[in-house]
Amino acid sequence: MALPGAIDAHTHFDMPCGDMTTSDDFYYGTRAAVAGGTTSIIDFSEPEHGTSLWNGLERWHEKADGKSFCDYGFHMTVSRYDEKLEEEIKGMVRNGVTSFKAYMAYIGDLGVTDGDLYRILKLIKKYNGLLLIHCENGEILDERRAELGETGPSDISNHPLSRPNEVEHDAVSRLIDMARLLDTQVYIVHTSTEEALAEIEKAKAEGVKVYCETCPHYLLLTDDRYREGGFEAAKYVCSPPLRKKKDNEALLRGIKEGAVDTVSTDHCSFNFKGQKDLGKEDFRQIPNGMPGVENRVELMLTYSDRQGISLNHTVKLLSENPAKIFGLYPKKGVIAPGSDADIVLIKPQSPHELSSKTQYQRVDYNPYEGTVVDYKVQHVFLRGHQIVSSGVPEERELFGQFLIRNTSVK
Ligand SMILES: [Zn+2]
Repeated sequence: MALPGAIDAHTHFDMPCGDMTTSDDFYYGTRAAVAGGTTSIIDFSEPEHGTSLWNGLERWHEKADGKSFCDYGFHMTVSRYDEKLEEEIKGMVRNGVTSFKAYMAYIGDLGVTDGDLYRILKLIKKYNGLLLIHCENGEILDERRAELGETGPSDISNHPLSRPNEVEHDAVSRLIDMARLLDTQVYIVHTSTEEALAEIEKAKAEGVKVYCETCPHYLLLTDDRYREGGFEAAKYVCSPPLRKKKDNEALLRGIKEGAVDTVSTDHCSFNFKGQKDLGKEDFRQIPNGMPGVENRVELMLTYSDRQGISLNHTVKLLSENPAKIFGLYPKKGVIAPGSDADIVLIKPQSPHELSSKTQYQRVDYNPYEGTVVDYKVQHVFLRGHQIVSSGVPEERELFGQFLIRNTSVK
């Protein structure tokens, strides 16, 4: 079957994290993306501490230009508010970066206070941009991390306890109130809990413009992983953490009833050996994140079949909706005359096992190791160029281009 190229609106390639960098850079990360049927990614660019958004844009162009198998855009991280920010936001929008990211957690580093978040939202509204928000109550989670880190630093099951459902729910609820007050649109990244979803559903019903993203791991995996296999559990340390079965099921219902708009990966790969294992003595030192960009399409097609979600609906979650929300439609997100010929040919009824041994992702494990998926990506075309043949990415020439996005939102 032929589907429009998938769009993964949430990746972290070549991202610095303390003394480390995510193990997939743009070359390896986008090679894995196309092998898995994704023809566009939108990555999070970050200015160096204390610099302007222009620094983030320059750095990310250096990382990505000429090194990408698929098309790529950037969301710009905003971690400060001052009188210079307005000009910078205007400049980003002019340069095709029409979406931004703010963190309600990590105060004192990437995070912003509620007051600054409110001001940032106001500015972005003025230029018709879209703000993506990491919703966790940073102060509560810092307290809990400190408490649990003191009593049980080597116990990874303290990771989910340090950022429980309430921490996400509180931030989502505050953000929605701000969006309502400002009559502006917001996009909630990696929604993971039943409680947060309920707030989003309520807000949508009231007409608040809130978009909801979740990720395959919040649908398919549970926090049992933190209690199994000793330190192997570090492979699943991500933020927000994996949740319970009831949260998986709530998000499935959210998909079926239309509250969930997109399924992205939050691909943020760290090797188990040499990166994750630096947190052996203290779960707080384990770098947060998991790979997934290569597996999203095959996993979600398989999941949708098993859970009774239609193929059309799945294509909306993986391609059409992100294209519309992020100013790429109808260039991307649809197979139609005049649209880019980003086409993925997929073979149904081709059961195969996902494994780190056979993946293109440059990371030494796969969180879905041993999972059988029923679909296999075979051939992929980007703007008419064949970039994957019989499952193998073509390395002769890289066709990936920077996506200059507009601000039109559905
Ligand atoms: Zn992320």
